[in-house]
Amino acid sequence: MGEFQAWFRSDADCLDYLEWLRWPDGFICSGCGHAGGWQIADGRFECAACASRTSVTAGTIFDRTRTPLTVWFTACWLFASQKDGISALSLQRQLEIGSYQTAWAMLGRLRSVLVRPERERLAGEVEVDESYFGGEEPGLRGGRQKGKKVLVGIAVERTEPTGFGRARMAPLPDASGEALRAFLTANVEPGARVITDGWPAYRPATAALYDHEPIPGASGAEASKLLPGVHKVASLAKRWLLGTHQGSVDAAHLPGYLNEFVFRFNRRRSRSRGLVFYRVLELAVAHDPVRYRDLIASPRPGSGPPRTPPGTRGHPPSMERPPAGRPWRRTPASAPSLKRLYTGSPSR
Ligand SMILES: [Zn+2]
Repeated sequence: MGEFQAWFRSDADCLDYLEWLRWPDGFICSGCGHAGGWQIADGRFECAACASRTSVTAGTIFDRTRTPLTVWFTACWLFASQKDGISALSLQRQLEIGSYQTAWAMLGRLRSVLVRPERERLAGEVEVDESYFGGEEPGLRGGRQKGKKVLVGIAVERTEPTGFGRARMAPLPDASGEALRAFLTANVEPGARVITDGWPAYRPATAALYDHEPIPGASGAEASKLLPGVHKVASLAKRWLLGTHQGSVDAAHLPGYLNEFVFRFNRRRSRSRGLVFYRVLELAVAHDPVRYRDLIASPRPGSGPPRTPPGTRGHPPSMERPPAGRPWRRTPASAPSLKRLYTGSPSR
């Protein structure tokens, strides 16, 4: 935190960091690919070959943002460095963001860069199972009900001699062999040992690609002992959705939240929070702009996210502030003292 504050004191510091991330070896024109150009008076870059002009943030998730970069960076720091990330409501309050929608959209944009940040699929011994998310109670496969429940595929690496490695999660259309095979091929390296509860659909799902080890009884009362990895990850993810996000995540946005959970879970042993922050920003400057209407896109009308466009109630102030000069010493005698406001003690 100290280092974060020392590095990013001003909006200009943040802009320079994004420039360094985007063009580590100097400006490259996104129009013609030419390497080389110069900075013009308004801060934009002009290509030496085709004369097209672009800004550091153009074409990234910060494209046309009216939120100061110091606010963006602080949001990203909280998102990346806190054990459970941050909710839109907390972000709005902490950074004095004018509307909930703006805070919600900032986190949505950060979340959207986490789509497949790592290309390497899980390998070795991998537990695979499904679980229902949402609804009144997370149930088992057989208890399918109409409503808000979403079936989620979960895969977790086992490590020797005990413990777990990386995880992956994604919503499934159903628990059929076809759906499970699509989940497996997207997330688990062919040749891996796939450990399941023996649900019949796993046989066609793993055929010819994986070494399938069904554990009979792993869907019953002993499930959490026989498939401890997937149960642990499922319960941590559900607790996170209920705790940090108060269970307010709807089906349309669940994939993004699952990506966020997995991104953080897979870096839970990272010794440097700063590296996690760096990775999110690195993905953010390499990611195309995300429009607000794409963030709220929901297949079911009437569900979920805020409908009001963000920014209708003004933009948050920059975190870059001039020194305040100990304002508590300058309180006029006639005004109620700050000390009294804080302690609530009566004046004498
Ligand atoms: Zn060019």
